[in-house]
Amino acid sequence: MRRVLVLGSTGSIGKQTLDVVRRLPARLQVVGLATYRDHKTLLAQAAECGVRTIGLIEPSPSLALTAQDAYLGVEGLCAMVQRAEVDVVVVALGGAVALMPTLAALQAGKIVALATKEVLVAAGEVVMQTARRCHATLLPIDSEHSGAFQAMLAGKPEQVARLILTASGGPFRTRPLDTFDAITVEEALQHPNWHMGAKITIDSATMMNKGLEVIEAQHLFGVRLEQVEVLLHPQSIVHALVEFVDGSTIAQLSLPDMRLPIQYALLYPERVDTQLPRLRLEQIGQLTFETPDPVRYPCLELAYAAARIGGTMPTVLNAANEVAVRAFLQRRIRFTDIPRLVERAMRAHTPAPATLENALQADAWARAFVSEF
Ligand code: MG
Repeated sequence: MRRVLVLGSTGSIGKQTLDVVRRLPARLQVVGLATYRDHKTLLAQAAECGVRTIGLIEPSPSLALTAQDAYLGVEGLCAMVQRAEVDVVVVALGGAVALMPTLAALQAGKIVALATKEVLVAAGEVVMQTARRCHATLLPIDSEHSGAFQAMLAGKPEQVARLILTASGGPFRTRPLDTFDAITVEEALQHPNWHMGAKITIDSATMMNKGLEVIEAQHLFGVRLEQVEVLLHPQSIVHALVEFVDGSTIAQLSLPDMRLPIQYALLYPERVDTQLPRLRLEQIGQLTFETPDPVRYPCLELAYAAARIGGTMPTVLNAANEVAVRAFLQRRIRFTDIPRLVERAMRAHTPAPATLENALQADAWARAFVSEF
């Protein structure tokens, strides 16, 4: 029996994690749930799972939590993940706010199943060093990285030549470029293949999501930036490909359903049948691939640039993007302002070595800088 604590249980990945646990009552048990501020959904989930341990980053002042073991604020979550009965911590909170609880879980030697890629973009070196030092296991929930992780098992890490992440291209893959200024929030939230939270859906439309994933892959798999490539694959069936030095390429294929990578991380290295819908290639028919157009997807270029510069530049890329996406969702800026604001923050930033202190400072600086506009 693996005992699972879910950070971000009220979000899309959190809800799908609970669905996976429900399908595997003999193997998985929820022992704690936490979220940012949606206490209504959180308390309903806790009642359903029979869980007393809950966490809230931003509890509403009127909320009285008498019957529960409640952990409040980011510090509260850091203590919560270290509880003795926790085996696996699912990190699915939105954004770099998940960094400190992730580090706390790794420091306690827990298995961390990571969905929040922003954590590795904001402070990848610190996170990977902590995982190694504390003998903690870090497993990806991101579908491309789960696919790459599985494909990697066909060879040795030092035999990897190239790692290819696929991208659907989002809703604007064929939209005329001269109409990008007019993109509405509703249009950007219409993802063709995946049903996800608002932030990652916008990131998929700008393709910043893939840029963050390139940086995530660099840290997770210890590969050089030049080894990580992105291919547009509108069907979202092939999630990642690993090319080995002999030229053999191993791909991971499945329907676009996050429950599979979640289940893989929760049960790793076990595989069991949980009756998820199966891939039938004869029904898909065609799998196509193309190189992404840098003019259409400037955010992907910005992410590569930030990764090339290194240090705290990826931290700034991520923080600036988080603020810009929120402003777009609040209809305060245009879709095309997102890459402009990120680029402006990157230009204004002098990168420092990627220590935790520097990363936290750069993150705060970039948020304040972009909020100014
Ligand atoms: Mg992904």
